[in-house]
Amino acid sequence: MECLYSTVFSIPLLYHTQKERRKAHSSPTYSFSLVEVGVSCARRMMNFDDYRGIWVYLEVKDGNIAPVSLELLGAGRQLADKRKTELAGVLIGSGVKPRASTAFTYGADIVYVYDDLIFEYYRTEPYMRALLDCCEKYKPEVLLYGATPTGKDLASAIATDLPTGLTADTTMLDIEEDTGLLLASRPAFGGNIMATILCKKYRPQMATVRPKVMKALPPDPSRTGKIVEEHIKLREEEMRTKVLEIVRETTKKARIDEADIIVAGGKGMGSKEGFQLIHQLAEVLGGAVGASRDVVEAGWIDHHHQVGQTGVTVTPKIYFAIGISGAIQHVVGMQNSELIIAINKDANAPIFQSCHYGIVGDAFEIVPLLIERFKEEISKIKAAAGAKEGIANA
Ligand SMILES: Cc1cc2nc3c(=O)[nH]c(=O)nc-3n(C[C@H](O)[C@H](O)[C@H](O)COP(=O)(O)OP(=O)(O)OC[C@H]3O[C@@H](n4cnc5c(N)ncnc54)[C@H](O)[C@@H]3O)c2cc1C
Repeated sequence: MECLYSTVFSIPLLYHTQKERRKAHSSPTYSFSLVEVGVSCARRMMNFDDYRGIWVYLEVKDGNIAPVSLELLGAGRQLADKRKTELAGVLIGSGVKPRASTAFTYGADIVYVYDDLIFEYYRTEPYMRALLDCCEKYKPEVLLYGATPTGKDLASAIATDLPTGLTADTTMLDIEEDTGLLLASRPAFGGNIMATILCKKYRPQMATVRPKVMKALPPDPSRTGKIVEEHIKLREEEMRTKVLEIVRETTKKARIDEADIIVAGGKGMGSKEGFQLIHQLAEVLGGAVGASRDVVEAGWIDHHHQVGQTGVTVTPKIYFAIGISGAIQHVVGMQNSELIIAINKDANAPIFQSCHYGIVGDAFEIVPLLIERFKEEISKIKAAAGAKEGIANA
């Protein structure tokens, strides 16, 4: 290997306590700790003028562009407009070329397409070779990936080869209009500060962004763009990994990242049995069940229900936080929900600083009342809808 790679973190300038951070989220003037990311290898002389454009790696899921990539096109569009440059997508797969039009409707100006049977299933090696080929040819200034298993795998492979820095799990993105310096912010040190990570000396500047953190633009079917078809010589027999079989999950897991209503419970539910109240309320409302990390660690529910920094980021229409204290590591995963309702017996619990409505009281008294009341209201709505249908059919 040409050099040793190591991530360099330096110059922590400012930091926020949890309280300051919450205040900061509602204020446009806050600043974060600044951290520089780069590679401590023999410095290559880079001419930054050669690097242009904001790129998004367009992940393909079940034949379509993954929602997180569409969200990144929304964020990328803002960066590209600020920098007065083009927004491009890189689409790799087999039979994926027709998907380029989706990227245009969500904001892309250009889509680089690598369409070949060798890319039928995601594998690090061929995808990395295609994306490296594209980066070396067209030199993007910024390259964004969804923080999905595929995006994280590909981004880290690219970061070791280019070489450049990579900021993982970014929750906010901005760019300096004049210099093109990407400001990638994310929670750091256990979520107690927000760090803004800079990659000052290398290009492209890369970041992964969690699903549901950025907002996709409303699709504009009249938008079109330029498709650039690319080819790279790869031979299947040279690939070190083979896909032998795809085994689809058959157990139905509640997808909290897609639910409109989430009823989340915390350690305040007391026990696995007590936590059943959370399941009951979720069932009545047709919602998914969420949980704090402490609940997952206690073994009351699986990890895929965990909301927060080391769990899933969610943005439902309604989020119930019941018996959850409101630690920052939990709040970062649900704070963008449209309506947050907290129930906690401690009036000073931090969750009350992050909710729209708060009920101070014992969950074991309040939740059964809510279940009964919601059941009544829902059956009234159903009866009214049934009566309307009856009149319409008569
Ligand atoms: C690096 C790191 C990453 C982390 N990632 C995550 C993460 O992704 N997600 C996450 O959730 N946490 C995460 N944590 C843990 C986090 O810091 C908290 O410890 C955790 O969120 C607390 O869970 P909790 O609110 O359920 O429990 P507690 O903090 O114990 O809170 C229980 C709450 O229930 C209330 N209560 C008690 N009884 C009742 C009752 N009968 N009725 C109503 N209210 C009641 C109490 O007043 C209290 O506020 C992380 C921590 C670290 C260091």
